[in-house]
Amino acid sequence: MDRSDVELILEAANFAAEKHKAQRRKDAEETPYINHPIGVARILSHEAGISDLVVLQAALLHDTVEDTNTTFPELEEKFGLEVKKVVEEVTDDKTLPKMRRKQLQIEHAPHCSHRAKLVKLADKLYNLRDLNRSTPQGWSEERVQEYFQWAFQVVNGLRDTNVVMEKQLDQLFKERGVTA
Ligand code: NDP
Ligand code: ZN
Repeated sequence: MDRSDVELILEAANFAAEKHKAQRRKDAEETPYINHPIGVARILSHEAGISDLVVLQAALLHDTVEDTNTTFPELEEKFGLEVKKVVEEVTDDKTLPKMRRKQLQIEHAPHCSHRAKLVKLADKLYNLRDLNRSTPQGWSEERVQEYFQWAFQVVNGLRDTNVVMEKQLDQLFKERGVTA
């Protein structure tokens, strides 16, 4: 029997919650990490008007391989090839040095699939809003500004994908005085 849409979404949310259960965000309140993937999926559904189940599942799962012991074969087995492929596209290679990973995000963005671009836009939008809401412990204003500058370069490689999210992102860049 085919699994219903609701079941698929809840399976992904529950899987991510279990995988991220010991993790916290970097904000001062140490918010549970799961708030982030749920918020990213919610931006896509509620704000950007996305109803593609593969995109919404991938959003819920997007940091599981990068930040937990989850593997790609595990995702493929549980959620199928299409979901696994999108998560793969939005996962950094953690064996590379951090600055190289950040540079690769800028270079890879234009070559991503439409689905991966949607997840990336929502991820950036969530993280920039989070930085505006609360500065992570130990971050200087300069570091926050550098993050916005870097995110701007990634987002420029994701253009013409979703009007709503790009407009929201552009407003945040404008408020920070971030330009090309
Ligand atoms: P990090 O990669 O260390 O942190 C940002 C990432 O952490 C986000 O992409 C997000 O990833 C995750 N995250 C977790 N909690 C939060 C939160 N509350 N708000 C936003 N993001 C959160 O940052 P960077 O290395 O990118 O640092 C930013 C800039 O600062 C860099 O461009 C670098 O040049 C500079 N830098 C400065 C340092 C300094 O000490 N001055 C040291 C290192 C870098 P996810 O979506 O995966 O959760
Ligand atoms: Zn993320």
